[in-house]
Amino acid sequence: MGATHPVRQVRPIRLDCLGSGFAFSHGRDWSGFVLDGRVLLDAPPQTLAALYRLGGAEAVAQIELVLLSHLHADHILGMDLLLLELEQGAASRLRGERPLAVAGPPGTHSRLRGIVGRSDRLPERADPRIVWIEDDAPSRFAWGDLEVEHIEVAHDPRLTAHGYRVHLDGRVVAYTGDTRMCPAVDALAEDADVLIVECAGAPREGAVATHLDWPEVYALRERLPARTRILVTHYDHLAAPAVEALPAGIVLAEDGRTYPFD
Ligand SMILES: [Zn+2]
Ligand SMILES: [Zn+2]
Repeated sequence: MGATHPVRQVRPIRLDCLGSGFAFSHGRDWSGFVLDGRVLLDAPPQTLAALYRLGGAEAVAQIELVLLSHLHADHILGMDLLLLELEQGAASRLRGERPLAVAGPPGTHSRLRGIVGRSDRLPERADPRIVWIEDDAPSRFAWGDLEVEHIEVAHDPRLTAHGYRVHLDGRVVAYTGDTRMCPAVDALAEDADVLIVECAGAPREGAVATHLDWPEVYALRERLPARTRILVTHYDHLAAPAVEALPAGIVLAEDGRTYPFD
């Protein structure tokens, strides 16, 4: 009998889109994703409702790590009601005592304190129910079987903004958060299987760029290897190109859709 070689089964990467709009969302939901059913990439205002639409209280209870890119409202305003649900709602009973990790740029907890006020919906920073990864956090950390790197990107000059690379089952999902074109975008994309990239568009005349625009995303597509799939989010749906006009290897995120990437 010949030797059998086990074939390593590579699971598709699963990304659920909670929303794909930029700040002026024109009625779309604001950009956010769930990776592998357990990592929340930003917490836009509709996060709790969108998770319920995705899979009820179970989908909320399965979130184990939240990666906040920066402290603009469209990326963090879902945290208050998400934490309330995890502390006191149906998801809290499914979840038990498991701690949640929340990573973000310096000042994340205090910014959320400013939003939530003195309510105990937001546990104090030292409370063991939430592990805060901010301030002096190393640029690479592990949470369970996940490895996460953050890389500072260039967005609003008055805010620190992070992009993330999540290593999962030997694969890499990169997320730019909000950024203008800068070397960090290519550093995030290096050897990634999927790059989730923002595209909120060119600045008003005379203003400094704080976002990527379509020509920059197309140029990024040109210089990245084909194996790195690009999922575009945080875009203006009224100014987006038709799906048929997009270059191969670029997928436009749509609210509520699930994307498996082989
Ligand atoms: Zn934004
Ligand atoms: Zn922003």
